[in-house]
Amino acid sequence: MSLKASEIQALLDEPACTHNTKEKSGCAKPKPGATAGGCSFDGAQIALLPIADVAHIVHGPIACAGSSWDNRGTRSSGVTLYKIGMTTDLSETDVVMGRGEKRLFHAIKQAIDSYSPKAVFIYNTCVTALIGDDVGAVCKAATERWGTPVVPVDAAGFYGTKNLGNRLAGEAMFKHVIGTAEPVPVVPRADGLPTYDVNLIGEYNIAGEFWHVAPLFDELGLRILCTLSGDSRFP
Ligand code: SF4
Repeated sequence: MSLKASEIQALLDEPACTHNTKEKSGCAKPKPGATAGGCSFDGAQIALLPIADVAHIVHGPIACAGSSWDNRGTRSSGVTLYKIGMTTDLSETDVVMGRGEKRLFHAIKQAIDSYSPKAVFIYNTCVTALIGDDVGAVCKAATERWGTPVVPVDAAGFYGTKNLGNRLAGEAMFKHVIGTAEPVPVVPRADGLPTYDVNLIGEYNIAGEFWHVAPLFDELGLRILCTLSGDSRFP
Protein backbone atom coordinates (compact mmCIF):
# COMPACT_ATOMS: atom_id res chain seq x y z
CA MET A 1 0.00 0.00 0.00
CA SER A 2 3.01 2.25 -0.28
CA LEU A 3 2.43 5.77 -1.51
CA LYS A 4 3.50 6.61 -5.06
CA ALA A 5 6.05 9.38 -5.67
CA SER A 6 3.32 11.44 -7.34
CA GLU A 7 1.07 11.13 -4.27
CA ILE A 8 3.89 12.30 -2.00
CA GLN A 9 4.59 15.20 -4.34
CA ALA A 10 0.92 16.19 -4.24
CA LEU A 11 1.09 16.33 -0.43
CA LEU A 12 4.09 18.65 -0.62
CA ASP A 13 2.34 21.09 -2.93
CA GLU A 14 1.27 24.14 -0.98
CA PRO A 15 -1.13 26.27 -2.98
CA ALA A 16 -0.62 30.00 -2.97
CA CYS A 17 -2.48 31.91 -0.27
CA THR A 18 -2.17 35.26 1.47
CA HIS A 19 0.73 33.91 3.52
CA ASN A 20 2.50 31.93 0.82
CA THR A 21 3.29 33.74 -2.39
CA LYS A 22 6.62 32.10 -3.23
CA GLU A 23 7.06 28.58 -1.90
CA LYS A 24 4.79 25.97 -3.41
CA SER A 25 6.64 22.83 -2.40
CA GLY A 26 6.26 22.40 1.36
CA CYS A 27 9.26 22.32 3.67
CA ALA A 28 12.64 22.46 1.96
CA LYS A 29 14.70 19.29 1.79
CA PRO A 30 17.76 19.36 4.02
CA LYS A 31 20.96 20.35 2.25
CA PRO A 32 23.92 17.94 2.20
CA GLY A 33 25.67 18.08 5.54
CA ALA A 34 22.63 19.37 7.43
CA THR A 35 20.95 17.16 9.97
CA ALA A 36 17.64 15.77 8.75
CA GLY A 37 16.02 15.19 12.14
CA GLY A 38 13.96 12.01 11.97
CA CYS A 39 12.41 10.11 9.10
CA SER A 40 8.79 10.35 7.93
CA PHE A 41 7.76 7.53 10.23
CA ASP A 42 9.22 9.40 13.20
CA GLY A 43 7.42 12.58 12.19
CA ALA A 44 4.09 10.79 11.85
CA GLN A 45 4.45 8.92 15.09
CA ILE A 46 5.31 11.92 17.26
CA ALA A 47 2.42 13.86 15.73
CA LEU A 48 -0.14 11.24 16.74
CA LEU A 49 1.40 9.62 19.81
CA PRO A 50 -0.20 12.11 22.24
CA ILE A 51 -3.66 10.63 21.48
CA ALA A 52 -3.75 8.98 24.86
CA ASP A 53 -6.35 6.22 24.68
CA VAL A 54 -5.02 4.68 21.46
CA ALA A 55 -2.70 1.65 21.14
CA HIS A 56 0.13 2.82 18.89
CA ILE A 57 1.80 -0.13 17.10
CA VAL A 58 4.95 0.30 15.03
CA HIS A 59 4.92 -2.28 12.26
CA GLY A 60 8.55 -3.01 11.53
CA PRO A 61 11.83 -4.12 13.06
CA ILE A 62 12.44 -3.31 16.70
CA ALA A 63 14.93 -0.54 15.96
CA CYS A 64 12.26 1.74 14.49
CA ALA A 65 10.45 1.76 17.83
CA GLY A 66 13.56 1.51 20.00
CA SER A 67 13.51 3.46 23.23
CA SER A 68 10.17 4.99 22.27
CA TRP A 69 8.43 4.84 25.65
CA ASP A 70 7.08 8.30 26.44
CA ASN A 71 9.40 9.61 23.73
CA ARG A 72 8.20 13.17 23.62
CA GLY A 73 7.17 13.99 27.16
CA THR A 74 3.62 14.87 26.18
CA ARG A 75 1.24 14.69 29.12
CA SER A 76 -2.22 13.20 29.50
CA SER A 77 -4.79 14.25 32.10
CA GLY A 78 -6.08 10.67 32.34
CA VAL A 79 -5.43 7.45 30.48
CA THR A 80 -1.77 6.74 29.63
CA LEU A 81 -2.03 3.88 27.15
CA TYR A 82 -0.14 5.96 24.58
CA LYS A 83 3.04 5.63 26.62
CA ILE A 84 3.38 1.92 25.99
CA GLY A 85 5.69 1.26 23.04
CA MET A 86 4.19 -1.50 20.90
CA THR A 87 5.81 -3.05 17.83
CA THR A 88 5.46 -6.12 15.67
CA ASP A 89 9.26 -6.56 16.09
CA LEU A 90 9.82 -8.12 12.67
CA SER A 91 12.91 -10.29 12.32
CA GLU A 92 14.82 -11.25 9.19
CA THR A 93 13.05 -14.61 9.24
CA ASP A 94 9.65 -12.90 9.29
CA VAL A 95 10.68 -10.85 6.27
CA VAL A 96 12.04 -13.83 4.34
CA MET A 97 9.05 -16.02 5.18
CA GLY A 98 6.49 -13.28 4.43
CA ARG A 99 5.00 -13.29 7.91
CA GLY A 100 4.67 -9.51 8.28
CA GLU A 101 0.93 -9.20 7.76
CA LYS A 102 0.20 -12.19 9.98
CA ARG A 103 2.32 -10.78 12.79
CA LEU A 104 0.56 -7.45 12.43
CA PHE A 105 -2.87 -9.06 12.68
CA HIS A 106 -1.83 -10.89 15.86
CA ALA A 107 -0.27 -7.73 17.32
CA ILE A 108 -3.54 -5.85 16.83
CA LYS A 109 -5.43 -8.68 18.54
CA GLN A 110 -2.99 -8.69 21.45
CA ALA A 111 -3.30 -4.93 21.91
CA ILE A 112 -7.10 -5.08 21.88
CA ASP A 113 -7.26 -8.11 24.21
CA SER A 114 -4.76 -6.63 26.66
CA TYR A 115 -5.76 -2.97 26.79
CA SER A 116 -9.22 -2.49 25.22
CA PRO A 117 -8.06 0.68 23.42
CA LYS A 118 -10.51 3.10 21.82
CA ALA A 119 -8.58 2.58 18.58
CA VAL A 120 -5.34 1.10 17.27
CA PHE A 121 -2.96 3.09 15.07
CA ILE A 122 -0.54 1.16 12.83
CA TYR A 123 2.63 2.89 11.68
CA ASN A 124 4.18 1.66 8.45
CA THR A 125 8.01 1.64 8.31
CA CYS A 126 10.65 1.24 5.61
CA VAL A 127 10.90 -2.53 5.85
CA THR A 128 7.17 -3.25 5.73
CA ALA A 129 6.68 -0.79 2.87
CA LEU A 130 9.55 -2.37 0.91
CA ILE A 131 8.30 -5.94 1.34
CA GLY A 132 4.83 -4.78 0.31
CA ASP A 133 2.77 -5.58 3.39
CA ASP A 134 -0.77 -4.39 2.74
CA VAL A 135 -1.18 -2.55 6.03
CA GLY A 136 -4.42 -0.93 4.92
CA ALA A 137 -6.03 -4.30 4.17
CA VAL A 138 -4.90 -5.76 7.51
CA CYS A 139 -6.30 -2.73 9.36
CA LYS A 140 -9.61 -3.08 7.54
CA ALA A 141 -9.85 -6.79 8.29
CA ALA A 142 -8.96 -6.24 11.96
CA THR A 143 -11.55 -3.46 12.30
CA GLU A 144 -14.22 -5.78 10.94
CA ARG A 145 -13.05 -8.71 13.06
CA TRP A 146 -12.85 -6.98 16.46
CA GLY A 147 -15.03 -3.91 16.04
CA THR A 148 -12.28 -1.53 17.20
CA PRO A 149 -11.17 1.13 14.70
CA VAL A 150 -7.71 0.25 13.35
CA VAL A 151 -6.12 3.17 11.51
CA PRO A 152 -3.23 2.78 9.05
CA VAL A 153 -0.61 5.54 9.15
CA ASP A 154 1.33 5.13 5.93
CA ALA A 155 4.51 7.10 6.57
CA ALA A 156 7.44 4.81 5.79
CA GLY A 157 10.75 6.40 6.70
CA PHE A 158 12.09 6.62 3.16
CA TYR A 159 9.13 8.70 1.96
CA GLY A 160 11.02 11.76 3.16
CA THR A 161 11.65 14.03 6.09
CA LYS A 162 10.17 14.27 9.52
CA ASN A 163 8.16 17.27 8.34
CA LEU A 164 6.60 15.18 5.62
CA GLY A 165 5.76 12.62 8.32
CA ASN A 166 3.80 15.29 10.21
CA ARG A 167 1.89 15.93 7.01
CA LEU A 168 1.24 12.22 6.43
CA ALA A 169 -0.07 11.86 9.98
CA GLY A 170 -2.58 14.61 9.27
CA GLU A 171 -3.52 12.88 6.06
CA ALA A 172 -4.23 9.63 7.95
CA MET A 173 -6.43 11.50 10.41
CA PHE A 174 -8.21 13.26 7.56
CA LYS A 175 -8.92 9.99 5.77
CA HIS A 176 -9.84 7.76 8.69
CA VAL A 177 -10.79 9.74 11.80
CA ILE A 178 -11.92 13.33 11.28
CA GLY A 179 -15.67 13.55 10.87
CA THR A 180 -16.39 10.14 12.38
CA ALA A 181 -18.02 11.52 15.56
CA GLU A 182 -20.35 14.33 16.53
CA PRO A 183 -19.23 16.92 19.12
CA VAL A 184 -20.87 16.89 22.54
CA PRO A 185 -23.51 19.64 22.92
CA VAL A 186 -22.33 23.04 24.22
CA VAL A 187 -23.10 23.74 27.88
CA PRO A 188 -24.57 27.30 28.05
CA ARG A 189 -22.36 29.81 29.88
CA ALA A 190 -23.55 31.24 33.19
CA ASP A 191 -23.13 34.80 31.84
CA GLY A 192 -25.33 34.06 28.82
CA LEU A 193 -22.58 34.87 26.29
CA PRO A 194 -22.16 32.57 23.29
CA THR A 195 -19.49 29.84 23.14
CA TYR A 196 -17.48 29.30 19.99
CA ASP A 197 -15.66 26.11 19.05
CA VAL A 198 -12.00 25.97 18.01
CA ASN A 199 -9.75 23.12 16.93
CA LEU A 200 -6.04 23.32 17.69
CA ILE A 201 -3.66 21.70 15.22
CA GLY A 202 -0.03 21.19 16.19
CA GLU A 203 -0.56 21.50 19.96
CA TYR A 204 1.16 18.58 21.73
CA ASN A 205 0.97 19.48 25.43
CA ILE A 206 4.65 18.77 25.88
CA ALA A 207 5.46 18.65 29.60
CA GLY A 208 1.85 19.76 30.21
CA GLU A 209 2.49 23.27 28.91
CA PHE A 210 -0.93 23.68 27.36
CA TRP A 211 -2.69 23.25 30.70
CA HIS A 212 -1.40 26.73 31.58
CA VAL A 213 -3.03 28.19 28.48
CA ALA A 214 -6.30 26.27 28.25
CA PRO A 215 -8.15 28.27 30.99
CA LEU A 216 -7.69 31.43 28.91
CA PHE A 217 -9.78 29.89 26.14
CA ASP A 218 -12.61 29.44 28.65
CA GLU A 219 -12.36 33.10 29.61
CA LEU A 220 -12.62 34.06 25.94
CA GLY A 221 -15.70 31.90 25.41
CA LEU A 222 -13.83 29.48 23.19
CA ARG A 223 -14.46 25.76 23.59
CA ILE A 224 -11.55 23.59 22.56
CA LEU A 225 -13.35 21.00 20.53
CA CYS A 226 -10.20 19.10 19.64
CA THR A 227 -6.45 19.31 19.89
CA LEU A 228 -4.37 17.50 17.35
CA SER A 229 -3.02 15.93 19.32
CA GLY A 230 -1.96 16.98 22.84
CA ASP A 231 -3.94 15.35 25.69
CA SER A 232 -6.57 14.22 23.19
CA ARG A 233 -8.79 11.16 23.02
CA PHE A 234 -10.02 9.15 20.08
CA PRO A 235 -13.51 10.32 19.03
S1 SF4 B 1 14.25 5.41 8.37
FE1 SF4 B 1 12.99 3.54 8.11
S2 SF4 B 1 14.13 1.94 9.21
FE2 SF4 B 1 14.90 3.94 9.97
S3 SF4 B 1 13.61 4.43 11.79
FE3 SF4 B 1 12.65 5.42 9.98
S4 SF4 B 1 11.11 3.86 9.33
FE4 SF4 B 1 12.56 2.77 10.65
